Amino acid sequence: MRPTFIDEVVKRVEACEDEVVKLCSRLVQFPTFNPPGITTDCVKFIEEYFERWGIRSKIYQNKEGKLNICGEVPGEKPGKILYLMHLDVVPEGDRRLWTYDPYGGVIADGKVYGRGACDMKGSCAAAMVAAKILSQLDPEKHCSAEFWFTCDEEVGSDEHGAGWLARTGRFKADVCLEGDCFMFPGRPAIDIGMKGGMGTVRKTFGKAAHGSQPHMGDNAIDKLIRVLAYAKRLEEYPLEIVDEMKPVYEACIKYYDEQETLTEEQKAGFKRIWRHPTVSLNLIKGGVKTNVVPDSAEAYLDIRICPGSNLQPIKEQLLKLIAESQVKDVEVKISGPTGGYYEPPNSKPVKQLIKTVELATGITPTLKVETGGNDAIYIKKYGLNIPCLGFGAGDEGLLHLTNEYVSIENLVICAKVYTVFPLVYAK
Ligand SMILES: [Zn+2]
Repeated sequence: MRPTFIDEVVKRVEACEDEVVKLCSRLVQFPTFNPPGITTDCVKFIEEYFERWGIRSKIYQNKEGKLNICGEVPGEKPGKILYLMHLDVVPEGDRRLWTYDPYGGVIADGKVYGRGACDMKGSCAAAMVAAKILSQLDPEKHCSAEFWFTCDEEVGSDEHGAGWLARTGRFKADVCLEGDCFMFPGRPAIDIGMKGGMGTVRKTFGKAAHGSQPHMGDNAIDKLIRVLAYAKRLEEYPLEIVDEMKPVYEACIKYYDEQETLTEEQKAGFKRIWRHPTVSLNLIKGGVKTNVVPDSAEAYLDIRICPGSNLQPIKEQLLKLIAESQVKDVEVKISGPTGGYYEPPNSKPVKQLIKTVELATGITPTLKVETGGNDAIYIKKYGLNIPCLGFGAGDEGLLHLTNEYVSIENLVICAKVYTVFPLVYAK
């Protein structure tokens, strides 16, 4: 492949800037908030778009209103890329806090505003335009590509979305490019994996008594607070990381450290999360009445761990800390642990995507790891043996926020990368 051809393709994408922006705005206008996450109208819109450009597409549905669609662009070079996009969004929350209508798709100050603009209708719009441009190129120049737009990512897609599609054998490809990957404006980044972790429910038991005579009871909430203080210390525990991932995490630290929009405190947090587990107390309940000493209390800790680190000593350390608290009558339930996953940083698909980003944008991307979860996990869960990489238009730090937006700069970068990848990819 001569770079000049790729340059021409990149120019074609640039000429489509207006289209990507308008498509993103239009997609935001479909209120696909989940629950209930109805994608019917949005999928029909994409179907019509594909039809207009002569791209063959097929709708997959396991339940009324829960539609998924795949557009196919066959190529003659060996290999197939699976683009994995989701159409549902999280609810908008308190509408009064939004500057613009969350489903208005307002275009202003170089951005498209609205619920889902960042997560991930921006990536969806970029994928649609990439499919269109790719379908107009000589098929000898690229491999095959399937553009999937699915439902239920935000609520767990095992029943009707990507999980269901993965489980029922619909996903067949040599590499998956997932759109739930976030970057700082103009700073392309590739996710080469996803964090794993464990959830811990712990319950403490005590004895009820009248609130005026606490010494006659045994306060389960007091006990829970003490246990949690010990468990939280797991954050100080250094992760044992495999050698090949060490440079990736060091690069992540640098990537976040260079962002002017982050406070010093936030930067310090981003420094820690690649070297230590994160421990977040996300649910707590206990007590029945204001004047009753509680006899039980419960908490949920969300613990996340970098892929490529040894899980067993972390689990042991957690149990050791709980024991050290010396609180009696504690019940500990650990769900997971799961290791997440990563694609080796020196593997062929990773190298090819790096090269794609360089050719498409002139910038060398940072390799990082998704801290949360996304639909790629089902491809791993069902053992499909497809390397999963992330690249998307969304701006880092904006997903699920009020006044969510996607910058036009990122939309165009994403459309370029999505279009060029099938030209660079070689099986
Ligand atoms: Zn998402």
